[in-house]
Amino acid sequence: MTAATSALPEQFDVIRQALPPTVTLVAVTKFLPVETIRAAYERGIRHFGESRVQEAIAKQADLADLPDITWHLIGHLQTNKARKAVEHFDWIHSVDSLKLAERLDQAAQELGKTPQCCLQVKLVPDPPKYGIDVAELEAALPQFDQLAHLKICGLMTIPPQDVIADTVQGLFTEAKSLADAINQKGLSRLHIDQLSMGMSGDYQVAIACGATMVRLGTVLFGPRPQSP
Ligand SMILES: *Cc1c(COP(=O)(O)O)cnc(C)c1O
Repeated sequence: MTAATSALPEQFDVIRQALPPTVTLVAVTKFLPVETIRAAYERGIRHFGESRVQEAIAKQADLADLPDITWHLIGHLQTNKARKAVEHFDWIHSVDSLKLAERLDQAAQELGKTPQCCLQVKLVPDPPKYGIDVAELEAALPQFDQLAHLKICGLMTIPPQDVIADTVQGLFTEAKSLADAINQKGLSRLHIDQLSMGMSGDYQVAIACGATMVRLGTVLFGPRPQSP
């Protein structure tokens, strides 16, 4: 065993191997060192999620010798960082306003890229959290649908922290229904075939409700530092 592989906690492979093969595991490595990313890469992980653009850029520079990583931005993105996000990420899970989507689309056009995007939806009021509420999202669908340089193919949602398990299940089910409803509107580009939902505390429920991507940090890597 190399030093790098032994750096991962024992539960790493157990958790991973228990996931259905159809679900994409996005290993969340925010605040974790590049050695951890390398160790996970050596075990076969190719999808990594980071919550901050600058932190990810620094790590990507260190990991430039690993060419086939798919990078996912999962944290809130300020519009003034839209261009950097498009440059450095394949997926953006946290598209939480039409304005941000328009900035991303413009950057994507300029850079000749087509990032895959999830619309982050807030299914219940949750003041500290970002996300588009359902009514607002439905009203803006025609505008989202016009953004030719984004591949908007997912919904992302995070339940509020303090809700009970039944509510979490209800919210994930609602996300699935919302995706189905959007797909029935006959939009030209926008088609939702990914549900990015489920973190360490609730990913099994999310998968049972139809999640296609889970974003796992703690359960794979153990507790993380509060900041890099
Ligand atoms: C940090 C984070 C995760 C991972 O959280 P864990 O509870 O450690 O699995 C998933 N999604 C988002 C948006 C995050 O910010």
